[in-house]
Amino acid sequence: MTVLVSGATGFIAQHVVDSLLKASYKVIGTARTPAKAAKLLEQFGHNSNLSMEVVPDISNIKGFDKVFEKHGKNINIVLHTASPFPFNITQFEKDLLIPARNGTRGILESIKKYSADTVERVVVTSSFASIWDFEAAPNRNFVYNEKMWNPAIWESAQTSAIMAYCASKKFAEETAWNFLHEYANKINFKLTTVNPVYVFGPQMFKSNVKETLNTSCEIINKVLKSNPREQLSLEIPGEFIDVRDIAKAHLAAFQKKETIGKRLLMSNGAFSEQTICNLINEEFPQLQGKIAPWAKDIKLDTGDVPFSIDNTMTRKLLEWDFIPIEKSVTDTVSQIIEAHK
Ligand code: NDP
Repeated sequence: MTVLVSGATGFIAQHVVDSLLKASYKVIGTARTPAKAAKLLEQFGHNSNLSMEVVPDISNIKGFDKVFEKHGKNINIVLHTASPFPFNITQFEKDLLIPARNGTRGILESIKKYSADTVERVVVTSSFASIWDFEAAPNRNFVYNEKMWNPAIWESAQTSAIMAYCASKKFAEETAWNFLHEYANKINFKLTTVNPVYVFGPQMFKSNVKETLNTSCEIINKVLKSNPREQLSLEIPGEFIDVRDIAKAHLAAFQKKETIGKRLLMSNGAFSEQTICNLINEEFPQLQGKIAPWAKDIKLDTGDVPFSIDNTMTRKLLEWDFIPIEKSVTDTVSQIIEAHK
């Protein structure tokens, strides 16, 4: 079985590639540049089951054509993880909305053109962002589940990076489900989406730890970079899930019949910056006095959350216990400390 992983150089995708290789799949990854492709091949020790192709920009709707023209008849599974996830941009349409939507449309068009008979399963890495109404007033009794959609529309989504990111994930995912219906007679694949909340956990390789990490892990890194006089936010920005559960979910998403047509809402509970800070203070005594201090995590402790998530359907389908925040944060921080030695 051959699996194509788009955006294979990404934080999540590297764990997905690792899980696929450990399960003896042949993997074709895509990266934006030859240098990034070569680096990943080296990081995976030139595993003979891994090869790489270059797709410079997924905004180009024909960006994946060459890859499918070359390998299409051998590809059985497609995992589309590539999508921009930065919050430090101002050109919302160009940098977020267009690549997210065109990337999804483009890869599905390429499958239809070159691999309609061979690709059996497609998994799109979507997000809780495509479910969450970012503008809704906080309400701890409001419960999101796998059936809900972010109400954002293209024009009004372009007010902030976070708003545009949430919308980009909605439009990308919506594009995939619509494509499935539009071309039901011309394709064979079944679709599943993985919809994670903030993803924490170690980088696949210690050498990936830089001063600034990928957007979600930077939340933990930022706490590590705090100073002892700082009061961290007690607000709940959202929920967390570990990257190793996300990798497992990508495999389950195409291996199981029961996941066909499903959105896997991946979450394992709420957190605040203070939650992370308290865990670091407890687990790493050597950092006490060097980062922000332990403090009561009042909002989390009293259930003062801006929304709730019910992912019972996803948990039943996946049948394993998700990694708790203690392990996720501890493993992330241990790797950062080790990398900076
Ligand atoms: P990363 O930024 O680490 O990975 C994103 C990947 O997409 C990288 O390989 C990146 O290439 C590639 N990419 C981005 N824009 C383009 C483009 N225009 N053309 C070609 N390739 C592009 O982020 P994550 O691993 O965190 O995210 C992976 C997926 O998971 C995304 O779809 C994201 O929306 C989703 N997700 C992530 C969550 C999280 O908390 N991390 C939560 C929910 C969903 P390059 O490395 O060269 O920039």
